[in-house]
Amino acid sequence: MASVGVESRRRSVWGWGYEDQQLAPDEVERIAAGVRGQLGFGAAEVERAARVEDLELPPARLEPPPSLAGICRTDTYDRALHTYGRGYRDVVRAFRGRFDHPPDVVAHPGGERELEQVLAWCEEAGAAAIPYGGGTSVVGGVEARVPQEVAVTIDLGRMDRVLEIDRLSRAARIQAGARGLGLEGQLREHDLTLRHYPQSFEHSTLGGWIATRAGGHFATLYTHIDDLVESVRAITPRGIWESRRLPGSGAGPSPDRLLLGSEGILGVITEAWVRLQDRPRFKVSAGVRFASFEEGARAVRALSQSGLHPSNCRLLDPGEALMTGAAPEGHALLVLGFESADHDVEPWMGRAEELCSDHGGEVRRRGGGEGAWRDAFLRAPYLRDSLIAGGIFTETFESAITWDRFDEFVAGVRARIEASLDTGARVTCRLTHVYPDGAAPYFTVAAAARRGAELEQWDEVKAAASEAILTSGGTITHHHAVGRDHRSWYDRQRPDPFAEALRAAKAAVDPHGILNPGVILDP
Ligand SMILES: Cc1cc2nc3c(=O)[nH]c(=O)nc-3n(C[C@H](O)[C@H](O)[C@H](O)COP(=O)(O)OP(=O)(O)OC[C@H]3O[C@@H](n4cnc5c(N)ncnc54)[C@H](O)[C@@H]3O)c2cc1C
Repeated sequence: MASVGVESRRRSVWGWGYEDQQLAPDEVERIAAGVRGQLGFGAAEVERAARVEDLELPPARLEPPPSLAGICRTDTYDRALHTYGRGYRDVVRAFRGRFDHPPDVVAHPGGERELEQVLAWCEEAGAAAIPYGGGTSVVGGVEARVPQEVAVTIDLGRMDRVLEIDRLSRAARIQAGARGLGLEGQLREHDLTLRHYPQSFEHSTLGGWIATRAGGHFATLYTHIDDLVESVRAITPRGIWESRRLPGSGAGPSPDRLLLGSEGILGVITEAWVRLQDRPRFKVSAGVRFASFEEGARAVRALSQSGLHPSNCRLLDPGEALMTGAAPEGHALLVLGFESADHDVEPWMGRAEELCSDHGGEVRRRGGGEGAWRDAFLRAPYLRDSLIAGGIFTETFESAITWDRFDEFVAGVRARIEASLDTGARVTCRLTHVYPDGAAPYFTVAAAARRGAELEQWDEVKAAASEAILTSGGTITHHHAVGRDHRSWYDRQRPDPFAEALRAAKAAVDPHGILNPGVILDP
């Protein structure tokens, strides 16, 4: 019988996906050479990842009590797996076998009773308690950089079931540890879907999405998980925090709103009622080419204010369209799609095409590049592992801005990121989500990695990009969360009285400050 927390397939401690999905060295060499040819930089020598068998972690400084020993693990693999999220600096460090702050213990509660016992033990032992869903954080959200001497990571992975379905209201009660793939698999049996697809969907969890206010793949209308949450249940060190199931409510500040984006500092989310949809039956997509990103953005603004609500409306700048093979050189590409479970969406697409043509767009229904872009989007998390082995630095920065400041914002942030990079580096931009009053630009950087000094390189580029975003009036994050990495910019973005109110709320439910210290607030 497998012991607790042991999956039949082991996830890689450094890369995306499972150990059995890691590419063979010659395949990595081939990919790295291809990318080197395309970008014009990258190391000639491909590095190999450290082997789990060779890892040496500092010894665990905490033993679980006998009553919890059966659900806790302290072995090297499990501690290494839970040390980092999957940001660039996480992957680089783990790839090289460097595990800076491994948790002392990883707890795998199977239900709320065990979770309450783990939290009580953490309080008693003075240990930091770090909620962990799928560990796909890209902002240092699960790394135990904490003031406490000891840390316990609480992996929700065993709590992964769809517990109840209310067909009439079209909603489901789902445990927080359910990952995207497993959750959709269970809903499919009922011909229903949550229809929330972040790029990390395969490995991220419902609890993680709620805790970080994740953004799904769909570009308009229901973009953030916020829109899909009907009620939330969490365990705090001072009791259960559960909201009433309601389609809407004007009764004071919303308890759900406070948990959404709380990133594990107020409580451990154990389950939520979420709004479902019938599976779409009508789908139509197109690729629309524009002479420039700015021209495409004007068409996107018209679309976002038309009330048509396309399910996909991603504008790629010429650099990104070329790199993903979605459009030939010199063209921005709009990936446009409509879908519905109820009605034919052809009339909507027809009107959207008219709006695009009015703004200079050239519409293609077949071979428009949307398929190539979709494949590149799905492949991206796996590709990044090979890029790191091949000496290529890649990172993404995302924000949101209103239309009145849009052009200036994108040009200004792009220029300041470029100025922080070595010659030859690439900066591309796409719009991931669009709203009637603005859009969410997403910048991707590719540069030659300074081998051995990638973390310093990351610090420089991250600071330049974040400073540019904040001082140009954007948000420090549209959907990647605050974590530990965005703290200094987030602190400047939020109003001071709000920070005080949040501190008071945390002190009320977590008086010993054990829950994910250092995220959102000072420990
Ligand atoms: C390749 C890649 C693609 C990505 N694409 C997207 C994307 O398209 N959209 C997007 O929004 N994000 C994206 N992300 C970021 C990340 O996947 C999201 O932030 C996601 O919501 C994290 O979910 P998780 O279950 O992995 O949470 P974790 O990484 O385990 O945790 C994230 C934070 O939430 C807290 N937390 C987790 N579970 C709970 C819980 N049950 N109760 C309380 N706190 C909890 C943790 O303490 C931590 O602070 C991407 C990341 C990667 C690596």
